[in-house]
Amino acid sequence: MTLPLCVLIATGGTIAMKVDPMHKAPLPALSGQDLLASVPGLSDIARLEVIDLCNKPSDHMGPDDWATLSSVVDAALAREDVAGVIVSHGTDTLEEAAWFLDLTLATDKPVVLVGAQRNASSPDFDGPRNLRDAARVCLAPDAHGRGVMVGMNNQVHAAREVTKTHTSDVEAFKSGDFGLLASVDEDRVVFSRSPLRRQHVLLRGGTLPLVEIVAMYGGASGALLRATVAQGARGIVVQALGFGNVNVAVFEAIEWAIGQGVAVVVSTRVPNGRVLPVYGFVGGGSTLKAAGAVFADNLSPQKARILLMLALQDHLDAASLQALFDR
Ligand code: ASP
Repeated sequence: MTLPLCVLIATGGTIAMKVDPMHKAPLPALSGQDLLASVPGLSDIARLEVIDLCNKPSDHMGPDDWATLSSVVDAALAREDVAGVIVSHGTDTLEEAAWFLDLTLATDKPVVLVGAQRNASSPDFDGPRNLRDAARVCLAPDAHGRGVMVGMNNQVHAAREVTKTHTSDVEAFKSGDFGLLASVDEDRVVFSRSPLRRQHVLLRGGTLPLVEIVAMYGGASGALLRATVAQGARGIVVQALGFGNVNVAVFEAIEWAIGQGVAVVVSTRVPNGRVLPVYGFVGGGSTLKAAGAVFADNLSPQKARILLMLALQDHLDAASLQALFDR
């Protein structure tokens, strides 16, 4: 019997790093084929075809890389003989790549992003088991139509909710209030929920509009926000506080930015819950809303930025942007 075919797209990250003897620090070292060779028993599960897209830390990845990755994944999935795609990736921006792909790919086939917290020189390198799990998730009967997934440490997360929560632990990825999509057990992959808040945004090609994230914190002056406008940003995501609140100086900077035609989206540094225009003090959510800011719902600042960047490919007003964030 011919085993199903999965495509592994290798992009780099700790999963592809080894400790370099000269630098005495982890550096990119392994190709996609090397990665596959590190996984015992993989050839009993699936046939794997490798695309070496790049080999860099995910800290060096950005919108152009995500757009290229999206088109490469799309082309692989368009092949009838391909059951699913695995993307090996650094963990630092894994959630951003996953969300970008989830928004831009229109497919029911499984796409699983995978990384490692320990590099390949470490005695407890977690790359091989994560890769093996990713292949099992790709081929799991219930994996269709779940959007782009992140598979780490026997757990499967949905792109919208997942975030890196630990610098070193092998169980670094969590989905907050929403929990796991599935667990990769000894006998089978058990799905327990479906991501309901998915949407598709067309990737139009060309450079994506500049969108920056600016943090609010006690005593923030608003100077960074104003500098971001001066730098030519089309959109700004404010990492606000609590329900979506800022102080007077940042509020005034936001009002000014909106007056300059810049789209301002309010997110929060609080890991769980939605932002809402609740408070009426100057800088409170309801005053930001009245000034024309858009609310990011429960998207983290880094994920709100990606949706805003994609949305600003078209010239949308605040109401249409809000409708996208409310979906
Ligand atoms: N700095 C690494 C990266 O994101 C961390 C990792 O892969 O775990 O590429």
